[in-house]
Amino acid sequence: MSPLMRSLTELLGRDPKKPQADEISPAAQQKHIEVRKDKTRIEKIRVELAERAAHKPPEKLRRKRWAVLILVNLLFLVSYLLDIQILEGALTASRFVGFHMADLNSALQVVLAFKHVVINLLIGTVTVFIMWWLLGGRTFCSWVCPYHLLSEWAEMLHVYLAKKKIVKDHPFDRRVRTWFWIIFAVLALVTGYTVFETISPTGILSRALIYGPGIALIWVALLLLFEIFYSRRAWCRYACPIGLTYGVVGAISPFKVQYNLANCFHEAECRKVCLVPHVLDTVIMGRARGMTVDIGADCTRCGRCVDACPTSSLTFKFKGLGNLL
Ligand code: SF4
Ligand code: SF4
Repeated sequence: MSPLMRSLTELLGRDPKKPQADEISPAAQQKHIEVRKDKTRIEKIRVELAERAAHKPPEKLRRKRWAVLILVNLLFLVSYLLDIQILEGALTASRFVGFHMADLNSALQVVLAFKHVVINLLIGTVTVFIMWWLLGGRTFCSWVCPYHLLSEWAEMLHVYLAKKKIVKDHPFDRRVRTWFWIIFAVLALVTGYTVFETISPTGILSRALIYGPGIALIWVALLLLFEIFYSRRAWCRYACPIGLTYGVVGAISPFKVQYNLANCFHEAECRKVCLVPHVLDTVIMGRARGMTVDIGADCTRCGRCVDACPTSSLTFKFKGLGNLL
């Protein structure tokens, strides 16, 4: 199976498979053998990790990402309040200094519901497609979506309560998200109504921030409570069709997180912080198929693994531009 097909099938919910020996490059095979023998280096990494745990260095990239996310969402509010036409509308459909923009999933729902394509919607969809193709698909999730920010805070609470053994994570089958995507597309087609928009926390929060709170915020609060007390990051991991749509765009994006086997000592710090740890299956000892591996389409380019990795084995790459960050 080609890396693109593997990335897409895993995005749709297939679990990553351990590679057969003939799927691993000779250089990677050699490295897998060497790393198991390098006890001194493994011990050094353990000491480094204990030191990190004691001092808890700040996640620099996470802070920058939160700042960008808050700024983008505030720009909608400021444009509305001051009527300055910089970023008009809400995340589902907007105009940035006059250019039409449309969230790809919302645009699809509108086309299916109303069964025709208006020119502004087409312009907005193409503009947004190119933008998120360049920036990496699910980058929308971690750098723009307001629900992502709230659910990261809910996740902190979940992790804290889990450590105290008060709550336990209940994972679901990731294929559920693909079924949700199909169900909402069919519902739009059959009912002529964009059903998903009424329950999408992304749209609800964006509209609430700009036009004022509404009753739909109760639904968002219930989702967050579910994530704190029952299933870590449940909506973004197992349900949201927007994440799946942007994931497909990200599969062919030139902007990726890249894994470098040469530096890795398989401590799995990255997998502990990742929203979608299945994309980091390649960091498990013996799993990398080559000396460098592009992380799959479900990756949100949040950069938490880049910050967490003590050996700099995960870096942002823009194809053709080398190391970006
Ligand atoms: S998966 Fe959906 S709710 Fe979660 S961050 Fe992405 S768009 Fe937002
Ligand atoms: S692989 Fe890294 S950048 Fe991608 S979602 Fe996971 S933690 Fe974020």
